[in-house]
Amino acid sequence: MADCIFCKIAAGEIPSTKVYEDDLCLAFRDLNPQAPTHILVIPKDHIQSVDEIDASNEAVVGHIFSVIAKVAKDEGLDKGYRVVSNIGEQGQQTVPHLHFHIIGGRDMTWPPG
Ligand code: 5GP
Ligand code: ZN
Repeated sequence: MADCIFCKIAAGEIPSTKVYEDDLCLAFRDLNPQAPTHILVIPKDHIQSVDEIDASNEAVVGHIFSVIAKVAKDEGLDKGYRVVSNIGEQGQQTVPHLHFHIIGGRDMTWPPG
């Protein structure tokens, strides 16, 4: 999608620190990390948010979750971590391209703010 920064990252038009890539998805380090490990996993095809997941695109989401588990192991997050997807205005989503945050390397707090 034109003017979507994560589409541009997926296309290699904006540089990123990649930690995993295949035909369907990309994992790269967040520019503004909130923990020692903060990685974003995105589908290469544009999906706006979790709210846009349906039968036509659910397979890539399942694949992304297996990639999340692999990336977390590769990062050594054996004590646990958090997976977050912010959705829309009240969810504080700032980039309207589906992404899952992998946040780890420190104790998390609950409930989230
Ligand atoms: P959201 O707020 O939509 O859940 O998450 C967007 C995330 O993308 C934020 O954590 C922000 O730091 C990250 N981000 C925004 N622009 C860029 C960028 O150009 N490169 C990288 N690596 N991360 C970005
Ligand atoms: Zn996009």
